[in-house]
Amino acid sequence: MGGMKVLLISPYELGRQPFSLAHAAALLRARDHEVVLIDLAQGSLPREGLEDFDLIGISLGMHTATRIAASLLPMLRRKATQARLVCYGVYAPPNQGLLEGLGVDVVLGPEFENDLIALTEDEEPGRRAKVTFVVPDRKGLPALTRYAHLQLPGGGRKTVGFVEASRGCKYLCRHCPLVPVYEGRFRAIPREMVIADAEQQIAKGATHLSFGDPDFLNGPTHALRLLEALHERWPEITFDATIKISHILAHRDLLPRLREFGCLFMTTAAESFDDTVLGFLDKGHTGEDIPHAVALARQAGIAIAPTFVPFTPWTTLEGYIALLTQVRDLGLINGVSPIQLAIRLLVPQGSYLLRIPGFQGHLKPFTDAILGYPWASPDPRVDMLQAHLQAWVEHAEGEGRDRLSAFAGLWRLAHEAAGRKAPALAADCAGPHIPRLSEPWYCCAEPTTSQLARCAVGA
Ligand code: SF4
Repeated sequence: MGGMKVLLISPYELGRQPFSLAHAAALLRARDHEVVLIDLAQGSLPREGLEDFDLIGISLGMHTATRIAASLLPMLRRKATQARLVCYGVYAPPNQGLLEGLGVDVVLGPEFENDLIALTEDEEPGRRAKVTFVVPDRKGLPALTRYAHLQLPGGGRKTVGFVEASRGCKYLCRHCPLVPVYEGRFRAIPREMVIADAEQQIAKGATHLSFGDPDFLNGPTHALRLLEALHERWPEITFDATIKISHILAHRDLLPRLREFGCLFMTTAAESFDDTVLGFLDKGHTGEDIPHAVALARQAGIAIAPTFVPFTPWTTLEGYIALLTQVRDLGLINGVSPIQLAIRLLVPQGSYLLRIPGFQGHLKPFTDAILGYPWASPDPRVDMLQAHLQAWVEHAEGEGRDRLSAFAGLWRLAHEAAGRKAPALAADCAGPHIPRLSEPWYCCAEPTTSQLARCAVGA
């Protein structure tokens, strides 16, 4: 039953051209539906004509997207009088109650495609087998040059294509939003689909591919075969991927091959150097593993960009200063986006953190305002410091400060909070400049006020 008018909306996807829209569009267009794609990070909703759509799907792949969608939904519900409103993605099921209260008719998870198709055929969702992947249809999305680009240390830049080679993850890190949904499962996207998607983006000017897989080495054989095929066809194309610390250690023998196939940098969720915190998060690595992973990456000629969750209910002032000290001593200041050093742990509905005995004692009641359970540190100075650091990072980024200058502010504020003077930072302590995407936001981070404001203007 073709012929429906469908609007798919992505509120925010880290500056990436959204796969979650393009893949659904390919499936729906193949069934003769008319599909309009809107990326709110790049444009705005049509002022007129919302009442003509039969179905509106909103992709909620990350926390920030959900916060933006929640602010838009009342208007959408009012104007889109005919449409079935559907929210889908990792962040949709944990926020089902809120979304339904805002007028959403159907809430689907990240494996949503078949159910979306079922809705266009007047079937109830949940009856079809696993989705068959097809080549995403990126027609109607803004040009790749409007999205995040790669900044090279020497000052050059590259247009980035955004691809996915797998979904889900085989680990059960307690703070990870994927875990309640995938429960330790992942699926490879067929190699020929990924290559065809890369091909269409390379034809549009991409010279670097950024893999959006939660962890690129969940299926190392799949990843390596794919890279080999890509490299054979486009030897000049570079790439980056997210690879966890324990995978860098376990697959150290693969690192030179990743480099040979064009890997410029790896993003890696270090989270903390504190083994107590890492144990609570069930990350599968220790603080001591991090320097080893950094050394292995550097030996292989691959830059490393660690991410952190520095503020948790177990963080102490001294522990935070120790984290900054490690970042400095490992020469990672230029490799870490400053916001990574101000992030506060998010505890969404269904989080595996809630299973830690006694953890609920840290929490206040769930609130829609942050789509999570607020928590307070046993030491109020830690919470105050986190708020100051986040404001500082926003200010420093607004002023265009470099990473060493932003880090120096964090360093000073942290020592002041502990009641002592910060030791001077050596001029050469920042470590190597590394390639980086121009939009460094981390998917589980609390959005900053300026970021929400910018998106609201776009919407
Ligand atoms: S944090 Fe990373 S490794 Fe852990 S479950 Fe999530 S995606 Fe997998």
